[in-house]
Amino acid sequence: MGTPDPSTLPYCTVCGSPRLVERYLGHRRCEACGSTRWRNPLPVAEAVLVRDGRVLLVQRGAVEHGAGKWVVPGGFIGLGETPPEAAMREAGEEAQVAVRVGGLAAAPRWLATKDGRGHVLLSFVATTDDEPAPGEDTMDIRWCAPDEVPWDALAFPTTEALLRGLVARSPDARRFPDDALDIATAEVVSGRARRPRPRFCARCSGILALLSVGGWRCTRCDTWHYENPRPTAGVLALRDGHVLLGKRRPGTAGGGLWAVPSGHAEPGETLEETGTRELFEETGVRAAAERLAGLFWDSEHFEAVYTGPALDTEPAADHRPEFTDLKWFDRASMPPAELMHHSAPHVTAWLVRQGLVR
Ligand SMILES: [Zn+2]
Ligand SMILES: [Zn+2]
Repeated sequence: MGTPDPSTLPYCTVCGSPRLVERYLGHRRCEACGSTRWRNPLPVAEAVLVRDGRVLLVQRGAVEHGAGKWVVPGGFIGLGETPPEAAMREAGEEAQVAVRVGGLAAAPRWLATKDGRGHVLLSFVATTDDEPAPGEDTMDIRWCAPDEVPWDALAFPTTEALLRGLVARSPDARRFPDDALDIATAEVVSGRARRPRPRFCARCSGILALLSVGGWRCTRCDTWHYENPRPTAGVLALRDGHVLLGKRRPGTAGGGLWAVPSGHAEPGETLEETGTRELFEETGVRAAAERLAGLFWDSEHFEAVYTGPALDTEPAADHRPEFTDLKWFDRASMPPAELMHHSAPHVTAWLVRQGLVR
């Protein structure tokens, strides 16, 4: 699992200019065209196929990390595809199966990487009618019950965490569960501006050719260039059966609508940390990201929404300029869906169903 970290390469991929300036945390802005090269954690999608209590594992071929080790089928989500589409594509490439993808099999997990960005893993429940077979970069495949998993030969700590978590929530510890987490999930267009596609090589400013989903190669020096959807996260603070929402500032995406306090993950940050930080920056309220409430996506971003009890009760509307108003809503005062932005109608309906908002 590794794509080169392009934050040190000299050219803007949008306009080819060398006038790149460091902003913060490795994000770099081009002074010529105004675009920013964001340095977020890289998103990975996995397909968790379970049949008769056994999970499908694939043995990695000659790859950069974890060669010969076992994982569930998965790989980087490319810019222009949704996380479920990436899980489907990876299952096809690594196990030669056409899959249907359902909800999340586990809460998003985070893998530390040497470049400091980290990977965010989204694992989807998947089903297939096909018989799996090793794909081009796969040495072997195996259906494993919990006591058949090669626990000492798993490729990543996140693979072990996924499988142990599945066993822990299974009604029968000898079988893997095939159901999804009870959270809100939906494809929702973010309303944010579409990211400009890269055209120039970051290493030599040669012309790039699009060769795979989110993958370009330089026609001059053969360097690969990858773009991925950006992870975002938010936290919904709870207090006495009320949830805190913010009214978005006019002129922004969803201006005038009530929304989840949420923002982009910084390099090295887990989604729980992102959500907690964004909630505080945007509202002045602190709350732990205690429980996963929902996952929402389009082909450029995805958003994990957590919920937890508020540690502060007085929001500060002028804390940061995203919102013009902040308000605690209970079931009776909740704004109608058409006055809510993006994930807010889905995830607040889930909070009501769970009895967390009353
Ligand atoms: Zn530029
Ligand atoms: Zn090049």
